[in-house]
Amino acid sequence: MIVVKLGGAAGIEPAAFCSDIAGLVRSGERVVIVHGGSDATTQLADQLGHPAVFLTSPSGHTSRRTDRRTLEIFQMACRGLLNQKIVEELQRLNINAVGISGIDGRLWVGKRKDAIRAVENGVTRIIRDDFSGTVDTVNPAIINTLVAGGFVPVISPPALSTTGEPINIDADRAAAATAAALGASSLLLLSNVPGLLRSFPDESSLIREIKRPHFAQAEGYAQGRMKKKVLAATEAVIAGVTRAVIGDARGQSPVTRALAGEGTVFA
Ligand code: ADP
Repeated sequence: MIVVKLGGAAGIEPAAFCSDIAGLVRSGERVVIVHGGSDATTQLADQLGHPAVFLTSPSGHTSRRTDRRTLEIFQMACRGLLNQKIVEELQRLNINAVGISGIDGRLWVGKRKDAIRAVENGVTRIIRDDFSGTVDTVNPAIINTLVAGGFVPVISPPALSTTGEPINIDADRAAAATAAALGASSLLLLSNVPGLLRSFPDESSLIREIKRPHFAQAEGYAQGRMKKKVLAATEAVIAGVTRAVIGDARGQSPVTRALAGEGTVFA
């Protein structure tokens, strides 16, 4: 089984991705798709007049402020628009895809953060009503049932909190936890860059392989959201996934190319 996470950054077109997935499924590969929706959420939030706000933690990490309205917009963008777009495209190619979110079948369960520390103009504020958290438990029963029935699961955030609310989580790390829970052979994290670049944005500085003893150093090369991808890749391999690849979703056959080791391979 392989778990493929499709990014939502600029330059990514689901059509080439889906036709590649269709070929793999027809050749007998069992595939589980995960996607995020950060950019789509930001765009929809602008259109709906509730623009995105990003918080900076005291350690310098940024995260989306997820108030109740933002949570709804996040669900509309991820589970509503992007998820159904991928399912539609696969159905058009005669692949029997099924869209679910992390709250369906209690697939992704985690703790909702009870307080977020955010720095604003040098002052640290505590925010208590945010709907965000991390996936701590993956219950793969729903995925195994779908795959055994010949369906291709397409999984979208949010996750379910331990107290039963939807929560905004990082889809790369959720994909990693899912790959581990399913005993997947590969986790492919596809985005709009060739892989982890030693000196971003120079695409010729691609790091081709990172072995386990060097995992701790890998995060040092990444900035911003790429840090989460590196963390997800290393977490997956440490949890038993044979290898994780950060690869390019742009162009033709992006999944086959990543499976062949194009990108940054963590093993
Ligand atoms: P997606 O939404 O497709 O999952 P993200 O936007 O979360 O992707 O992360 C990919 C982005 O990370 C790239 O578009 C790039 O701007 C940024 N990035 C930061 N540092 C690096 C790096 N060292 N190598 C590659 N990309 C990097």
